[in-house]
Amino acid sequence: MAGPDAGPVVDLGEVAVFPGLVNAHAHLDYTAMAGLLVPPREFPDWIKGILTLKSQWTDAEFEASWRLGARQQLESGTTTVANIETRAHQLAGLRAGTPLRIFSFLEMTGIRSGREPERILGEAMEVLKGLPPNRGGVGLSPHAPYSTSPELLRAVAAVARREGWRVTCHVAESDPEFDMFMYRRGSLFSWLEPQRPCDDCGLGSPVQHVDRHGLLGSPLLAVHVNRLWGEDAWRLAARGASVVHCPRSHAYFGHPRFPREELTEAGVPICIATDSLGSTKASREGPPVLSLLDELRALAAADPGLSPRRMLTEVTVQPARALGLKSVLGELNTGALADLLVLPHAGSTGTVEEALVHHRGPVAATLIGGRWEWIAPGWDSLLSGSVHDPRSTPSP
Ligand SMILES: [Zn+2]
Repeated sequence: MAGPDAGPVVDLGEVAVFPGLVNAHAHLDYTAMAGLLVPPREFPDWIKGILTLKSQWTDAEFEASWRLGARQQLESGTTTVANIETRAHQLAGLRAGTPLRIFSFLEMTGIRSGREPERILGEAMEVLKGLPPNRGGVGLSPHAPYSTSPELLRAVAAVARREGWRVTCHVAESDPEFDMFMYRRGSLFSWLEPQRPCDDCGLGSPVQHVDRHGLLGSPLLAVHVNRLWGEDAWRLAARGASVVHCPRSHAYFGHPRFPREELTEAGVPICIATDSLGSTKASREGPPVLSLLDELRALAAADPGLSPRRMLTEVTVQPARALGLKSVLGELNTGALADLLVLPHAGSTGTVEEALVHHRGPVAATLIGGRWEWIAPGWDSLLSGSVHDPRSTPSP
C-alpha cells in the first residue's frame, strides 16, 4: 500500500523490479575498442596495443566511445558507474550528457612521462574540483603499481583521506605484475626496467606494495587482485578494501584463477564489474556489450556453484558500500535513492535472482532518481507514469 509520501502508483504488470546495478569498475571511453585488440600472448603486449590505439584516436572518437558505453550501461540496467576517466578536458560535458550516476575516478600514471607526482596530483585535483556537481561523485585512480611511483601512491592516499574521496587501482592483475614486484623478473619487469626506477620491485607482492604506500586504507577499490601472497587477503580485509572482479576481462586475458574463496574467508567484500570492452571477447551472440548482466552470465557459467543471490549483492549492495553509499544505492529500501531496473518476469518470486543472472539483452526499463531514463521498445505505454524520489543528490 502506498504511504502518505508516495507519488503516483504505476502497475508494471508481470515484471521483476531490482535495484539499479552499480558497476564498480568501467572504462566507458574504451567501449568502441571492442574487437580491436586481440588477446595478447603476454600482458605487456596488450598495454602496448592500447597505448598505440589511444594515440591514434581523436577527441571525437573518445567522446563517441564514452557515450556509447554510457548508453549500453543504461539499457542493461546499470544506474551507477565507477568510471576510470582519461579525458580530463572532456569530462564535464561527458558527465552532463548522461543520466547515469557517474563516479569519475581520474586516472594517473606518470612513469613514462616522468612528471612530478605533486604536479600530476595537483592537476587531477584541479580537474575534479572544477567539475559541476552531478548525480555521482569523484575519486582518484592511480592506474597500477607498475605504472605509478611510490611517491604518487603516497600522495594520493593522503589527499583521498583529506578530501574524503575513494581511490581505485588495478592491483595484482597478471602474473607478470606479480613477478615484477615479488621477484624483479618477468615480461613486465623487462619492458619497464629501462623506463622507470625499479627499486620498489623485489620487495613483496603487489598488494603489499600498495599497502606499504598507504593506499589500501583509502579505502581502496582494488581491481582484479588475481594473485595473492601470504597474508594479502587478511591485509585487504583489515584495511577495509573491496576487491573488484571483472569476469569477462579475466577470461579474455586468461589470468590466474580469481581467489574468491581466500578473499571471502578473510572477509573481503567482492564486487563484480565490467572493466572495458577493449578486453572483452565477442560471444556467439555477437560483439560484446558493456553490461553487468552479461558479466553475471559469464560468471555463472565459469563458477556454477555461485548463488544468483550472492551475485546480485556483488552488483548492488557491495559496490554501493565500496563507494561509501551503503543504504543509499544498490537497494530497494526506505531512504535509498529511486534507482531501479525492470525485467519481464512471469515466474515465481523465488526465481527472480536467477532470472536476472540469465537475462540476455536490454532490460525493459531503467529508472534513475525517480525518472524513467531507458524504456525498451514496446514498454512505453506501460511506463507512462513517474515515481516520486524524495532524496537529493548523494555526495561520495
Ligand atoms: Zn580496468
